[in-house]
Amino acid sequence: MTNSSYASKPLSAPQKALRKMGLLRDIDLGLHLPMRYEDETHWASLDQARDADSVQFLAVVKSSEVVFKPRRQLIVQVQEIKFNGLVKVPSPNENELGETLGDFCTLRFFNFYPSLQKSLAVGKKVRLRGEIKGGMLGKTMMHPSIHAFDDVLPTTLTPVYSTTAGLPQSYLKRAVMTGLDRCIRLGAFQETIPTEYQSESMWPLVKAVQFLHAPTAGVSIAQLEDKTHPAWQRLKAEELLAQQISQLRAKRERQSLMAPNLSGEVGGVNCLTKELLQILPFQLTNAQSRVVSEITRDIAKTTPMYRLLQGDVGSGKTVVAALAATQCIDSGYQCVLMAPTEILAEQHFKKLVDWLAPLLEKKNLLVAWLSGSQKKKERQKMLEITQDGQAALVIGTHAVIQDQVKFRSLGLVLIDEQHRFGVAQRLALKAKLQDQEPHLLMMSATPIPRTLAMSYYADLDVSTLDELPPGRTPVVTKVISDQRRDEVVTRIKAQISLGRQVYWVCPLIEDSEALDLVNATQTHQLLSESLPGINVGLLHSKMPTADKKDVMQQFTDGKTGVLVSTTVIEVGVDVPNASLMVIEHAERFGLSQLHQLRGRVGRGAAASACVLMYSLGEHGRLGETARERLKAMAQTQDGFEIARRDLEIRGPGEFLGSRQSGAAMLRFADLSTDQEWLDWAQDLAPKMLDSYPVQAQEHVARWLGHKLEYLKA
Ligand code: ADP
Ligand code: MG
Repeated sequence: MTNSSYASKPLSAPQKALRKMGLLRDIDLGLHLPMRYEDETHWASLDQARDADSVQFLAVVKSSEVVFKPRRQLIVQVQEIKFNGLVKVPSPNENELGETLGDFCTLRFFNFYPSLQKSLAVGKKVRLRGEIKGGMLGKTMMHPSIHAFDDVLPTTLTPVYSTTAGLPQSYLKRAVMTGLDRCIRLGAFQETIPTEYQSESMWPLVKAVQFLHAPTAGVSIAQLEDKTHPAWQRLKAEELLAQQISQLRAKRERQSLMAPNLSGEVGGVNCLTKELLQILPFQLTNAQSRVVSEITRDIAKTTPMYRLLQGDVGSGKTVVAALAATQCIDSGYQCVLMAPTEILAEQHFKKLVDWLAPLLEKKNLLVAWLSGSQKKKERQKMLEITQDGQAALVIGTHAVIQDQVKFRSLGLVLIDEQHRFGVAQRLALKAKLQDQEPHLLMMSATPIPRTLAMSYYADLDVSTLDELPPGRTPVVTKVISDQRRDEVVTRIKAQISLGRQVYWVCPLIEDSEALDLVNATQTHQLLSESLPGINVGLLHSKMPTADKKDVMQQFTDGKTGVLVSTTVIEVGVDVPNASLMVIEHAERFGLSQLHQLRGRVGRGAAASACVLMYSLGEHGRLGETARERLKAMAQTQDGFEIARRDLEIRGPGEFLGSRQSGAAMLRFADLSTDQEWLDWAQDLAPKMLDSYPVQAQEHVARWLGHKLEYLKA
């Protein structure tokens, strides 16, 4: 296929659908492997078939009619034909004397064309294949497949390809076969992996691909379906290697860029950093010290850092970020911190201003605040001090990456809760420097399971805070039905009387922020009534920013006992005196979201609890995944374990959020079962790039082709 052929005539619907599925090149078609198979290689008699059996037999049509009740359908009566008692097509020298008739079967078609009626006219003989439904009125089949009577049975399994609207299976199958043939003829499946790195059990690529498109009869369908068959193993290895090479290449490309040296020695030997350490009200944990030194070392290099700092909620990422910022400022560069929500950005701002503003003041430096909701005049001022470099630290929401924001000398970018940002936003930030790349530190409270990190984040360096600051008490988690709401209210009263505070999180109402609001308002009202004498605050996403800040401040200052809120408090809110969290309709939340929410309590010394209140749906029971999520929450508080289970429940595509585009590139490998191939690929990728650059390039092009752009983000 060449580009010019597209230009000359408009694409048909199936052609368009092929393009939409990314099936552009022959190689894409050749590597579009079946999602399952049907076995048409042997006969199965109708006589012996039971409900739900798949059968394939010969039959003669006895009657055929179109009825309109309950809706238009074609109903065909057939009778099985056997030859000399056997189910098979007669050979030419067998005469019809041996022909006997067997059971009847009713065929039903809701979609049919005249051509189908013609081939199923009374008296016609056909080969039929489908699933039997046995019922009171005899055997029936819905939409069986129909083949010519003298058809010889195929000797290979019949592939079924994943397809999309407007792309019939038969069209796709033909396109795949054509692409595959051309690939084989032109040597597109030539080996790219040097033989010295192939294990003995590995099938040659071309053999594996051919086999998977047409497996010989008798192969274990189970092995094909769970992809343990050697042919699949080969494809998984190939795919993982492509992923590893492309990620490693992206990493090396980044390493060839220049970044400022932030060793912190320009402005007078680490002065800010030292001063900050002195005024901190606590000692760094060992994990924090280790991570700080990893970052310190990285940003003192002139290649850009590209690092993910992961640590469970409450593990103390903010101070690590602050220390990176001071080192950057000590080196004479600006630092920007971006957070996904205004509340979170605001919290960072307050905390960092508390710590740093007095220290910066002495050097005549400022902290700038940028947000979407700020007044024009204030914003203008902030833009000015950012551009002239007076603002050593710039904190804000997405507002910090808008075009008008110009830095004088940006050295370090800190991104909190990185999984909430899209690739595009990160790219926009990167483009802020012309001659030098800033160093990049992304923070996440959703730890990435090891296989995922190795696979999708292979181009990132990862620092992990695997230790919580001392003095935390574990949060007791209870899963209870909302029928016991009264008990929960009693519990709230008890906490308040101890001087503690309580979060009450209202459920997400899908697709309706308006309903969210109604619900939160009602809950607020109800709770206020059942908690006389206690101040109950209300926080929801539709409130003006100033009101939100106000409500948050009152809660932080201990003026409100209970804070009713929608999920706006999800990330980062830090009120150590809060010791109880109630999550209403907990069954509607995702696992990592629940974990994040729960992380809001247990931040002080008091024993804390989280009540996951569920409500049984119309069917009077909880869905399977909802139950699994709640169970996981009750069983563990370890963010890594939660992340692992979340991955299990949701799969990598959803887990990765903004990296979904990159996730699409693993079609065959499964990170939960293919760790060994991942290890193999990770080991091989650098060797390929170093010693076999041409093959490495070919390998990646074959697998990723036009998808490559995504991976650089
Ligand atoms: P997160 O990793 O969720 O962003 P924070 O940075 O908000 O966590 O820290 C949670 C709380 O722990 C904050 O109140 C912070 O001041 C406190 N904290 C951080 N590090 C320490 C430490 N080493 N010792 C005691 N408290 C700490
Ligand atoms: Mg945080």
